[in-house]
Amino acid sequence: MAGLEPSRSVPAAEPRADYEHTSGEVNRPALVESLRARVDGDVRFDEYSRQSYATDASIYEVPPVGVVFPTSTADVAAVVETCASVDVPVLPRGGGTSLAGQTVNEAVVLDFTRYMDDVRTVDPDTRTARAQVGTTLGDLNADLADHDLKFAPDPAWGDKSALGGAIGNNSTGAHSLQYGKTDHYVESCEVVLSDGTVTEFGELSVTELRERAGDEDLESRIYAAVADVLDEHGDEIAAAYPDLKRNVSGYNLDRLVAEADGEFGEPGTVNLARLLAGSEGTLAIVTEATVSLEPVPETKAMALLTYGDLIDAMADVAPILEHDPAAVEILDDVMIDLARDTAEFEDVAAILPDGTRATLLVEFYAEDDAEGRELVDRLLADRLDGTASVTDEPVRAAEGLEAHDEAKREKFWKLRKSGLPILLSRTSDAKHVAFIEDTGVPPENLPEYVADFQEVLEDHDTFASFYAHAGPGVLHIRPLVNTKTVEGVETMVSIADDVTDLVVEYGGSVSGEHGDGRARTCWNEKLYGTDVWEVFRELKTAFDPDWLLNPGQVVGVDDAAVEAGTAPPRARTVDMATQLRFDPEYDIDAGLAPTLEWDNENGMEGMVELCHGCGGCRGPQETTGSVMCPTYRAADEELTATRGRANMLRQAMSGDLPDDPTDDQFAEEVLDLCIGCKGCKRDCPSGVDMAKLKAEVTHARHQEHGASLRDKLFANVDTLFALGSRVAPVANLLGSLPGSDTVLEKTVGIARERDTPTLHSETFADWFAARERSLSTDEATRSVVLFADAYTNHVHPDVGKAAVEVLEAAGVSVTLLDGHTDSGRPAYSKGLLDDARATAESVVGALEPYVDAGRDVVVVEPSDAVMLQSDYLDLLGQNERTAAVATNTYGLCEYLDAFDLDREIAWAPPARSLAYHGHCHQKATKKDHHAVGVLRRAGYDIDPLDSGCCGMAGSFGYEAEHYSMSQAIGDILFEQVEESPAEQVVAPGASCRTQLGDREGGEDPPHPVEALADALATARSRP
Ligand SMILES: Cc1cc2nc3c(=O)[nH]c(=O)nc-3n(C[C@H](O)[C@H](O)[C@H](O)COP(=O)(O)OP(=O)(O)OC[C@H]3O[C@@H](n4cnc5c(N)ncnc54)[C@H](O)[C@@H]3O)c2cc1C
Ligand code: SF4
Ligand code: SF4
Repeated sequence: MAGLEPSRSVPAAEPRADYEHTSGEVNRPALVESLRARVDGDVRFDEYSRQSYATDASIYEVPPVGVVFPTSTADVAAVVETCASVDVPVLPRGGGTSLAGQTVNEAVVLDFTRYMDDVRTVDPDTRTARAQVGTTLGDLNADLADHDLKFAPDPAWGDKSALGGAIGNNSTGAHSLQYGKTDHYVESCEVVLSDGTVTEFGELSVTELRERAGDEDLESRIYAAVADVLDEHGDEIAAAYPDLKRNVSGYNLDRLVAEADGEFGEPGTVNLARLLAGSEGTLAIVTEATVSLEPVPETKAMALLTYGDLIDAMADVAPILEHDPAAVEILDDVMIDLARDTAEFEDVAAILPDGTRATLLVEFYAEDDAEGRELVDRLLADRLDGTASVTDEPVRAAEGLEAHDEAKREKFWKLRKSGLPILLSRTSDAKHVAFIEDTGVPPENLPEYVADFQEVLEDHDTFASFYAHAGPGVLHIRPLVNTKTVEGVETMVSIADDVTDLVVEYGGSVSGEHGDGRARTCWNEKLYGTDVWEVFRELKTAFDPDWLLNPGQVVGVDDAAVEAGTAPPRARTVDMATQLRFDPEYDIDAGLAPTLEWDNENGMEGMVELCHGCGGCRGPQETTGSVMCPTYRAADEELTATRGRANMLRQAMSGDLPDDPTDDQFAEEVLDLCIGCKGCKRDCPSGVDMAKLKAEVTHARHQEHGASLRDKLFANVDTLFALGSRVAPVANLLGSLPGSDTVLEKTVGIARERDTPTLHSETFADWFAARERSLSTDEATRSVVLFADAYTNHVHPDVGKAAVEVLEAAGVSVTLLDGHTDSGRPAYSKGLLDDARATAESVVGALEPYVDAGRDVVVVEPSDAVMLQSDYLDLLGQNERTAAVATNTYGLCEYLDAFDLDREIAWAPPARSLAYHGHCHQKATKKDHHAVGVLRRAGYDIDPLDSGCCGMAGSFGYEAEHYSMSQAIGDILFEQVEESPAEQVVAPGASCRTQLGDREGGEDPPHPVEALADALATARSRP
């Protein structure tokens, strides 16, 4: 679709935008002034910015001193120097997806993801790339894909997390057996040292290291300290570190010593860039890195082994490793049961035979399909049949399934990832928390270790699931703990203590994946012994003499050192039991009386507290796809991600913010910008439903302050349209008069760029009433009552006509629901919940007799369909009548697809290919695939776009102050449409069609049912 030139913009910069992503008192104004004088990037020390950077994906919450978004290495150096001059710490940050709390501290946070996210160069010949540290791994890999290369470490959240974070945490993922950790791929780094010096760290000989060592400046003292580690502590380190594929506790000293010994290349060389891997921002700040790359594997093959017992599965890991797999992942019975009980996953869980209590998923990389099959065959012959013994180990597996094509492999991976979202959706005070969630032990020790771990949990009267990277011995284990009670916090510390003992006993590490942070630093001394802990301190003080870089994490000092004045108080080793997000002092009071049904969420507060901070809502459209979260994707602001909103709402309700959730400022900066697309309801692993929260809080705000005229107008759009249709020529003329758009913007706040809809004198209802019924109930295979919304009735009657035509062609008798063109959706999205409820009540009352008589309800507009199917239950409660309407309601194509009604129709589609943009509410309810199936069966060549929300979001895009945000979201969709090979785009949502029609050079796209009607008409016109 050529000719359209989408462009990304900064929505808040538009003069009409009433938000700037900042608010509240500015902390340390003098420091802000000094920083602004030296830094080109944004400097934000206001309360909203500070609170939105107070959390990461961990259980901790620490408001920073302020936040800076640097644009260059010079900015970073200026921040470090300026902060050092006033004794304020600095903390580098990527996506903030860390699970141990290493991305929160009382420091000036440097967020690299906004401006320092360029991939500088890719050199396929040397298989290296140079990138700024704010680049996400997803974006980096997208740039490498053309060369069939990749940055090999694959942390699960790579599309949301940054290269700097991967280096900071020494990240890796499910394929670490094959690739190892990030340290293996960091060739060199540009760094800013703790005094602001900019330098490059890379490989050098130990001789050179010693030559550079000295006492003249910070850099030479660093070289001296590293040389000292090698010369004085090499043996100690080699003895203290566990022999593991994955260990990210403490500093990366074992790698340093092994490099010098020649384990990774020439003996006598070391790489200081690799020493920074896993240092969690405590040694130096990386600004750019050169990384080495791996070829993308030709193909993969998988086997899924099932077991009747978890310990049997654990015992099978070591023998499976003999087959040299790329990944071995475990899933226990807790996860399997959760998957079996959840609609989304029951189909994948159904592949498991009865009696399965654990599975091992084994993946191989192969040159071609034949090799993949051979590898799987050999594994199954050994570990399932016992016919080709590779080791002396007995056969333990019950069954073995194979996956060679991509769809089936994805199914296996979906099963592996199925339980976590459910585990994290717990709305009770007790939650499955991350504090010992990534311990690692040698795989051969897994059976005994897991058995002992289970005992520890039983002793503490709790439980957890055991899953993830069994191959390298790294298990994800999140015990159920309530940190809102003193006993809960004590339980957490006690479990961590016992587990550290176990880890030491079994030759493991406290962290095999997520790092030390606030949760694990305090266990490093126990893990490595006092001597190595002291080496950590020496290294830290050489790099950062004043403890200014993320202090207290990875290593710290004790009270005695602080009292003796040898270290500042901030250097104290962080205490894992303090600065918790939910602690015994935590108290939440929504300060409003909720009117929606929140029983399933443990009250509204349960939903507010559900976000665990994983940062999943920060994924870009290009690499993450799906819907969540369009406003973040458009604005690139933490506060516009679901996480930002959820954090701010919780903080406003628990008194951490100066504003109440119903205050003007809070509305403008936080909630008004949520477009209510429900993307988070589906895509967030915890199921945070921000659209519902927004509706509730906005309702309470209206109760306090009253609703605006514009809100009331938009909420009653059906009445306005009905009046307008009666005098359509005049109403349309008024709307098209020169200057009418400016008047509307000035008086009501409707963006002047938007055209008022053109109303039809003959409405769809008029047409329906006047037509001769073509299919009676007796002749029909099914009967429906059709709900046509205000847009279909007054603005797009052709869509309604096409719907009737297609339904009747499918043998369905159609009755129009008379007198109802409003489902309550417009009032609901404006937070006018009493009005929405009254409308819902009346629609349910009108539909009830039809439903009782066995008719199905079919709804033209997707957002109305979802209103009846799901939001009515929140508005009216889970009563029988509402549930009956909800269960029997369908979207148009959903209906055709669900009952296979389109299959007998003779279609002859015009020769044009279609891009399909689904409505976000349909996506949220997993119903957007139906239209694609039906259109495909009708013979269209379809390109289903992995698109998010269009940005119009009902009335949002009409609002002058939100126009630029709406456009920025729309630009993402326009780009996808532009890139699609299809000739025309179709979209079932009226708002989406308006937004797509409003794009430069664009025209209003048809509803899919109009495309179906065309295919019908062509077929009928043929002799
Ligand atoms: C659902 C989920 C799944 C995960 N799966 C994995 C996984 O499979 N494997 C894995 O390893 N981890 C995993 N993690 C943890 C985390 O996502 C990764 O470690 C990730 O690589 C961190 O990247 P980030 O950009 O979010 O870093 P951040 O959290 O922002 O930072 C991480 C650390 O790096 C430091 N840092 C950031 N930038 C710099 C810089 N420029 N210079 C110096 N230090 C810096 C920070 O100070 C911090 O200490 C997961 C987390 C979640 C929530
Ligand atoms: S809203 Fe959901 S996806 Fe976003 S951070 Fe919170 S839990 Fe993760
Ligand atoms: S409803 Fe949409 S815009 Fe609002 S937080 Fe969720 S994903 Fe973001």
